[in-house]
Amino acid sequence: MFSGWFRVVLRCFAGVTHWQLHPNGTGWGIFPSQPKDPIGDDHPPIGSGSLRTGKLGTRSAPQKFSRFAFLDSMIAHMGDSPAVPIPIRNTWKAVVDHARRYQDFTYVYPVISRRSRGLSIGVNLNPDKQCNFDCVYCEVDRNTPGKAREVRLDQVRDELRWLIDHALSGGLGREAKFNDAPPEVSRIVRDVAFSGDGEPTMVSNFDVCVEVVAEVLREKGLSDTKIVLITDSAGLDKASVRRGLSLMDAHHGEVWAKLDAGTEEYYRHVNRSSVRFDRILGNLLETARVRPIVIQSLFLKTHSQAMSSMELDAYCRRLNQIRDGGGTLREVHAYTLARPTPEAWATRLSAKELSAVAETIRAQTGLRVEEFP
Ligand code: SF4
Repeated sequence: MFSGWFRVVLRCFAGVTHWQLHPNGTGWGIFPSQPKDPIGDDHPPIGSGSLRTGKLGTRSAPQKFSRFAFLDSMIAHMGDSPAVPIPIRNTWKAVVDHARRYQDFTYVYPVISRRSRGLSIGVNLNPDKQCNFDCVYCEVDRNTPGKAREVRLDQVRDELRWLIDHALSGGLGREAKFNDAPPEVSRIVRDVAFSGDGEPTMVSNFDVCVEVVAEVLREKGLSDTKIVLITDSAGLDKASVRRGLSLMDAHHGEVWAKLDAGTEEYYRHVNRSSVRFDRILGNLLETARVRPIVIQSLFLKTHSQAMSSMELDAYCRRLNQIRDGGGTLREVHAYTLARPTPEAWATRLSAKELSAVAETIRAQTGLRVEEFP
């Protein structure tokens, strides 16, 4: 509908200046659309005081609102979506660095995710780092104290709105952490995922959090974008979580549920949780009876030992039991460690070793298994 020259003109207009209102509402300012020096990986830690926002003449944070946001949005939807998904490379900076920290935000952060096949906007409902698991491979740094205990929904809404606008307008793709990937990768929001520094189902109002995300996606014209819950499954039986899952079902929801073990003993070894294993299994079954779920399983070595074949058989039996009980498993994501963990004795499988595990799961369950070495 729009010719090439018109697209160029739109881009020129959209790139002149932006009005900015900081997510915390501290003020307005006019800012150049392109930062002079990189932000992203190089960004200072939260609370360092060096992120200046909201004052005329200062710069660092990207722009919250664009005067030309409507032009940016038009451009974002003008045929940039690739017909074939772009392969995600392990070496891209935003794939290597999955920090759940972005600018001075508290709840919302962008990652390029292999499992999402592109840009996933994370919503961290646990900046306090609360989790009912203590996985040996957990990357959350619990040596430094967490942030807010409360989930401030108004702030979640503001941060999410801002980051979506920023991604759609191409601003995210210009940041140092994202600029080695093709620009369209960070302009297409593949999903919004409840994930983060702990277990999302531990919040008391999960259903309301889902409502907020769905509302922002609607407002941004992204009603077809998936809402994903990445969970350890311990809280899937809570009433507010069940309500939230029903809401997600109405918004292309997907549950990606962790299962790393086949026996209680191995579960205690790798997930180190006080939640009973049979509760986890019961929650997986009940949830999978209502909608198809994705099983996410991390396979690793502990003290140089990979999961035994008996344990892997038991794990496959658990998957079969869910299906025999009337649950639907869409697929299994089999992955291994991608980044260093605090426990030096927890180490990754090679791609070949992970492939052998995935092949056993396929053979014993008939499920589709995606490998993420
Ligand atoms: S469930 Fe996730 S956040 Fe919790 S300990 Fe395990 S890896 Fe860490």
